[in-house]
Amino acid sequence: MEVKYTDAHCHAHEFEESELARYAETFAAIVAVSDDLESSIRTVRLAERFGYLVPCVGIHPWSLKALGRVDEELRELERLVVERGVRCLGEVGLDLAFTPETYDAQLSLFRRLLEIARDHDLALNLHTAKAWRQALEEVSRYGIRRALFHWYTGPPDVLSEIVARGYLVSINPTVRVSEKHREVARRVALACLAFESDGPYQYRGLYLTPDLIPETVRFVAEVRGVEPAELVAAAQENLERLLG
Ligand SMILES: [Zn+2]
Repeated sequence: MEVKYTDAHCHAHEFEESELARYAETFAAIVAVSDDLESSIRTVRLAERFGYLVPCVGIHPWSLKALGRVDEELRELERLVVERGVRCLGEVGLDLAFTPETYDAQLSLFRRLLEIARDHDLALNLHTAKAWRQALEEVSRYGIRRALFHWYTGPPDVLSEIVARGYLVSINPTVRVSEKHREVARRVALACLAFESDGPYQYRGLYLTPDLIPETVRFVAEVRGVEPAELVAAAQENLERLLG
């Protein structure tokens, strides 16, 4: 049987539809995150067309500067959740690495998104750059049951708590070039592991797309000393648990 992969965090709305049609052949599921209201609407539409896409709607912390009327945009996002059966908010979270100057506004927006997640029992697809501990605290405080920390490169003690709470961590193709990320890939419990592309994105000479996931799985399998098929199966099972 041919192996089908999963991508736990991909900006599918930025890809051509011809590429999305091609990914349907190799992927059982691609979790499609959004950056703002406009891309959320596009993501939901794409998922209605491509059945293997799992839509997440949300407002990325980097989109904060361009954010219009917050109340109205949040109401529209909630409407997508209710009317179109969206089960996950993403990409949402906190960022102290790239946009620390907007942190206070990020936190108040994130808390409002957490309220929506709590009210509708949604999963979260989280951006937590250098705000790993703060994001984990907020998610726990709001009693969120299912969350994925995408491209996790934070400290081991926060990782242990993420795993203890049954949240997921997704491993990115940059595992090849990042020692920190490789250590996460080595030590995260199998029951909390997922793979992601975060595509399309340029990082240290790598062009990140779902095409890199098969080799990422093989690389992590070698690091952990297991068969790639075992990781593919575990990642798929974990995503099913995350998204219902
Ligand atoms: Zn992303």
